[in-house]
Amino acid sequence: MSPYIDPSTASAVIDLDAFAANIETLRAHVAPAAVMVVVKADAYGHGLLECARAARDAGADWLGVATPGEALALRAAGDRGLLLAWLYGPQEDLTPLLAAEVDVSAQSVDQLDRIAAGARAVGRRARVHLKIDTGLSRNGATAAEWPAICAGARCAEQAGVVEVVGVWSHLASADEPGAVSVGAQQEAFENAYRVALQAGLQPAIRHLANSAGAMIWPETRYDLVRLGIATYGIEPDAGIADLAGISLRPVMRLRAQLVNVKAVATGAGVSYGHTWHAPAPATLGLVPLGYGDGIPRRAGNRAEVGWRGRRAPIRGRVCMDQFVVELVDRQLSAASPVVEVGEEVTLFGPGDHGEPTAAEWAGWCDTIGYEIVTRIGSRVPRVYL
Ligand code: PLP
Repeated sequence: MSPYIDPSTASAVIDLDAFAANIETLRAHVAPAAVMVVVKADAYGHGLLECARAARDAGADWLGVATPGEALALRAAGDRGLLLAWLYGPQEDLTPLLAAEVDVSAQSVDQLDRIAAGARAVGRRARVHLKIDTGLSRNGATAAEWPAICAGARCAEQAGVVEVVGVWSHLASADEPGAVSVGAQQEAFENAYRVALQAGLQPAIRHLANSAGAMIWPETRYDLVRLGIATYGIEPDAGIADLAGISLRPVMRLRAQLVNVKAVATGAGVSYGHTWHAPAPATLGLVPLGYGDGIPRRAGNRAEVGWRGRRAPIRGRVCMDQFVVELVDRQLSAASPVVEVGEEVTLFGPGDHGEPTAAEWAGWCDTIGYEIVTRIGSRVPRVYL
């Protein structure tokens, strides 16, 4: 779908050089482990196909996605590299995925049966990563279910329909330095791997770590790490990059032009519900993005945007398509008293021109940087550098 907002009015500018630089930095940091770049959810809002191509060019050994649809979109665009998809529903037809030579995750005997049937239908051995739940309690087989899954997978291997290439799991608290659960998950993971070997499987690839694990828990890296947020230049949590001794470059800059500027008198109520009143005469600018574009409504009266190298606070509630900022520029006001419609604001970016970062927005909106970038909607054009 082509975006409905004109790129001159507002856009998410995606710096693919920064993305490539982050991947290279992380690759060097985790070597000799291989790198999977996670491009699910439209590459965390940065654009699936463009980021996938850039990730391959930057040396990603693997790409990872959640859904079969995402994997098939990559194949349709010509991607032929190693690719894993891990989340599908009980009624989904897996044959297109297997025909497209996408690796699939299995966490139950039922899923294995469906994969085996799909492999028979397409006449090609399915490459499977068995998922063990080591403590996240999200998906993955429990320790009690695991031996039966390994036995089932071994039968499917002997029948020539499945090849178990990996054993994998996901960490719950890798972004908390010192979290005791990381060691416990690692131990459960290694036990599961031993059970797989005892069942006669020979999975070559063990993978457990996300960005935070790969960055600050070296013992969780095993053969392959699955890197999402850090490749987009956002820390999994504040301080993680410093702890790892690496620096990351934010990839997305969300900018817009002011589409209206007005002066209001003392006491004017601003936006729905008048949750802010001007305490003095004020200059207000209108930013043409709103919660319909993924700007959190929570940002009302809390967040700021970058403008003229400084900050302009959001006044009043964020609406579906627009919000209001107060433009205060005492230093420049004598020389340039007028704010023009069309002046640029940066909602968030790398922070090198005084603008906030996605991490700062996350703080203002009681969320995480992941959500700030991933929620930027399809109406907003992505412009690639
Ligand atoms: N692996 C799995 C299974 C995931 O769901 C995710 C993302 O949520 C990742 C890896 C990447 O995590 P991160 O973005 O923290 O690197």
